[in-house]
Amino acid sequence: MIKIAYERLEILFKMAEEEFSLHPERSHRYVEMARNIAKKYNLKMPPYWRGRFCRDCNRFLKPGFNSKVRLIKSAVTIECLECGEISRKPYVMEQRTRRRNKIASHTFKEGTYE
Ligand SMILES: [Zn+2]
Repeated sequence: MIKIAYERLEILFKMAEEEFSLHPERSHRYVEMARNIAKKYNLKMPPYWRGRFCRDCNRFLKPGFNSKVRLIKSAVTIECLECGEISRKPYVMEQRTRRRNKIASHTFKEGTYE
């Protein structure tokens, strides 16, 4: 059942993406339906689509059209231009692992560590 629900989420978001240029109100409806399914089966939103809708007004978001994506203070900031809701996703951990890998590649030469 859960697998089918995930497939339906994918389909709904893809349809929302396709319909957005012609019928934005339809894609907003698809997002609403997708969120209802996710709520019903207690699913996490697929990571690819996580920043593509507004959590506050349930609108489908397309960067450059009705959403603004900026990098502010080590976070991906997505602003919904329909209602003004701002969601932030920090990427501090990614920076940290990158830094750590860089240091590790300097410190340990191949074959010196176990
Ligand atoms: Zn919104």
